[in-house]
Amino acid sequence: MLPEFKNEPYTDFSQAENQRGMKEALSAVGEQLGGDYDLIIGGDRIKASEQFRSINPSRKDQVVGVFQKASVEEAERALQTALEVFPGWSRVDPAERAEHLFRAAAAMRRRRLELNAWMVIEEGKNWLEADADVAEAIDFLEFYGREMIRYAGEQPLTPVPGEKNELVYIPLGAGVVIPPWNFPLAILTGMTSAALVAGNTVVLKPSSDSPAMGHLFMEIMEEAGLPPGVVNFLTGSGAAIGDTLVGHPRTRFISFTGSKAVGLGIVELAAKTAPGQIWIKRVIAEMGGKDAIVVDGETDLDRAADGVKTAAFGFQGQKCSACSRAIVVEDVYDRFVELLAEKTGTITVGDVADQKNYMGPVINQRAMDSIMEYIEIGKEEGRLITGGGPAGEGGFYIQPTIIADVDPRARIAQEEIFGPVLAVIKARDFDHALQIANDTEYGLTGAVYSDNRDKLEKAKKIFHCGNLYLNRKCTGALVGGHPFGGFNMSGTDSKAGGRDYLLLYTQAKSITEFTG
Ligand code: NAD
Repeated sequence: MLPEFKNEPYTDFSQAENQRGMKEALSAVGEQLGGDYDLIIGGDRIKASEQFRSINPSRKDQVVGVFQKASVEEAERALQTALEVFPGWSRVDPAERAEHLFRAAAAMRRRRLELNAWMVIEEGKNWLEADADVAEAIDFLEFYGREMIRYAGEQPLTPVPGEKNELVYIPLGAGVVIPPWNFPLAILTGMTSAALVAGNTVVLKPSSDSPAMGHLFMEIMEEAGLPPGVVNFLTGSGAAIGDTLVGHPRTRFISFTGSKAVGLGIVELAAKTAPGQIWIKRVIAEMGGKDAIVVDGETDLDRAADGVKTAAFGFQGQKCSACSRAIVVEDVYDRFVELLAEKTGTITVGDVADQKNYMGPVINQRAMDSIMEYIEIGKEEGRLITGGGPAGEGGFYIQPTIIADVDPRARIAQEEIFGPVLAVIKARDFDHALQIANDTEYGLTGAVYSDNRDKLEKAKKIFHCGNLYLNRKCTGALVGGHPFGGFNMSGTDSKAGGRDYLLLYTQAKSITEFTG
């Protein structure tokens, strides 16, 4: 009997032993940096004609690894391989498919600190954030494995006299999985494992900012005994090979998580029927956010300020769920801004290999330029409270930045910045705050701090977002407990880590037998 799913605990880094373990893992990974990595198609290691480098955003001069820039031909080959492997894999017993996920979860547990260390170095996540990312990846494997077993069981149907009826969930086919870099193990593992446990085969194209994490996932799946070709690992530029993968007549589904612009492009291309195509492609697209925390007058302002600070600046604000708008009712506005500024002043920024640094770098030069541009726009659109500039040398460091008195329709209150920049907006009262919260094209996460039960109930009805949190921060969704996905331009509301998620990777077949 499989034990009931429960979330993987985090590593306690206040313990000297765990600190030592993490330092050792960082130095062991440090010795492996700069290696060459291949495409993996049908289990074969393949070199492309061009390569690219993944770098450590905390230390721009440090190369994490050299990866292959797949061409259109290699993309075609990866997809053909996934197509060839599909019939066999789709018929493997679902419980056996789930076993691969459980074995992979065990391997991730064994390699926990090593995985953390790679993520600290490749993505600039601090120790705790990296550890939480790996824990979430383990959760996805454990959760979707169990979910597949549940879906493979007998499904409830209304009895019909004279008939025996069944409903079975069958896979879709060969699909493309395109994850982002910001949860480089968790989201990549979640999307890919859901697809494969449901019986599909996959071309996995990781982000070019996190290919080493993608490669580690492949190693772990191989270690878990996954047959070659069930997942094919294709690094390279999304712009160069994305259209081939998405537009291919035999691609059955595309599972994407990333920005609104790329997501909408995929939705559009996938909707065009290519010659020879015999299905409507399924697109699962989880995209950006402009998430708000509403702070009411009737609340513990200290707790609210802690929640806003963590949600705005944790992992440098580079979470789709990050708080990028604090909407505060006017009677506590000045006091809240003061408190928040004070708390933000204690944030340390620097190389996250050092445990003492809470905030690390943003992911790359392009992100740095774009965030700095938004900060300049913000200085025009509001009152700079803290931060407002780069923070140190050697990496892509930006100060945690708060801009107050921002108009709800200002650019920094509407556009996703994806960095450590928070807009603080004043609302007349609680109703006005909710109205402002809903007034963007996104609808991913949101939170409300209030001690007034009526107001919380009102927020439950009115605040239009996929993941609403009451009296806690808007980041940190847990697999199983907080199925995750957004409304409007935040995506297709797929609810990753929830009980509906595997349905997206399957189709239901109803079978009726006349029995007389
Ligand atoms: P991105 O859109 O730049 O890239 C995402 C992936 O798409 C990458 O693997 C990239 O290589 C690939 N890609 C780029 N162009 C492509 C094309 N033309 N065709 C096919 N693939 C292409 O996003 P990112 O910078 O990696 O991630 C940050 C974004 O992701 C933010 O907008 C964030 O809000 C969003 N995000 C959303 C969720 C969610 O659950 N809603 C979770 C995490 C991140």
